[in-house]
Amino acid sequence: MSFNSLGLSDALLKAISKKGYTTPSPIQQKSIPPILEGKDVLASAQTGTGKTAGFTLPILQILSQGKHLSHRPIRALILTPTRELAAQILANIKEYGEFLDLRSTVIFGGVNQKPQVAQLRQGIDILVATPGRLIDLQNQGLITLNKVEILVLDEADRMLDMGFLRDIERIMKVLPTKRQNLMFSATFSKDIKKLAMGILNHPVQVEATPENTTVDAITQKVYPVAKEKKTELVIKLITEGNWKQILVFTRTKQGANKLTESMISAGIQAAAIHGNKGQGARTKALAGFKNGSLTALVATDIAARGLDIPLLPHVVNFELPNIPEDYVHRIGRTGRAGANGEAISLFSPDETIFLRDIEKLIGMKLPKENIKGFEPDPNASTEPIKQGQGRQQRNSTPRKPKTDTTNRSSNNSFGPRRPSQNNDRRSNR
Ligand code: AMP
Repeated sequence: MSFNSLGLSDALLKAISKKGYTTPSPIQQKSIPPILEGKDVLASAQTGTGKTAGFTLPILQILSQGKHLSHRPIRALILTPTRELAAQILANIKEYGEFLDLRSTVIFGGVNQKPQVAQLRQGIDILVATPGRLIDLQNQGLITLNKVEILVLDEADRMLDMGFLRDIERIMKVLPTKRQNLMFSATFSKDIKKLAMGILNHPVQVEATPENTTVDAITQKVYPVAKEKKTELVIKLITEGNWKQILVFTRTKQGANKLTESMISAGIQAAAIHGNKGQGARTKALAGFKNGSLTALVATDIAARGLDIPLLPHVVNFELPNIPEDYVHRIGRTGRAGANGEAISLFSPDETIFLRDIEKLIGMKLPKENIKGFEPDPNASTEPIKQGQGRQQRNSTPRKPKTDTTNRSSNNSFGPRRPSQNNDRRSNR
């Protein structure tokens, strides 16, 4: 199948060809036609499948064909969990929309709001936003969403996981009821299905990969290793394997910093990326990783969301995630858009329960390989070690919001936010 057969306009086809894409990915083949027909879509697609183009291309087409109002109200709203993902989506919109007369911008927290507000004042057709900053600006009366025609919830599972359910519900209240809704999620928990039922209207369901399974192009391996030898092992893998670009996941920000320092001491160009790093440091680390001046990027799960790094050859789980769905997200960073990749998990005995949960979720046993000199003590405890955040967060069912009567009648305000609602619920990451 070619992009021509999907019914996209010449302006979009020109931009796609400039990007070098020749064939639409499966998720694009399945999602673009129903979106162009104006239908609601519920898509199961993990990162790396080309899902962003799957919704941005048809949105650009619909909006470019629609009526142009001189004051340019926001007609498409894309909600996404993290700033990196938001910035990446905007970058894609700008590229795909290069030959169209549409304006787009992004808003997210952690940076000065003034430039964002100035952009909004000029009139914007497509807004990409993280829920927190959107609500802040709405509460200040700086944003109007009553002309939104298309709503996208991207990485909806992650938004729920980060505790954004209440924010999403508040945003829904100020959107016009008649609109097209698109929801993308890598995993489909009961909570996601419930959210979808509340927002989507007779959605067309499309799937790029089977539910909760990992991409076939990824070779997955588990190295059982003594906990205290993990740092030594990851350094050995990088140096002896002469790896040039490796994304390493840790469970905590502190763990990411510590490992980065050890790597730098061992002569590996490395940087950490996590919620405590300012936007400038995150952008710089990502740029260095992409241009090859950094060999290793050490990331927590939240920070890694939305990183667009094509053809990433290696992903290492320095620690297994305590939320099994995170494993699927993590390894989705490799084997992207058809390329082969390798995902290695360093597994210490205290992570036995995490490995069991991951294998249950993906429905397969991960192959184990011992590396001589690094094997764990066979008598080591298999109890999880408390690491600032315990297992209680693993099944992170979003809190059920209290009925918010203060907002019911108002179409212009989201009402007060609870102080605990910030962009990074898993504050340890
Ligand atoms: P995504 O899943 O949206 O994060 O996209 C993953 C990567 O695939 C990005 O680097 C895109 O630029 C790239 N991509 C998206 N669609 C295509 C396509 N049809 N052909 C080749 N690469 C693509």
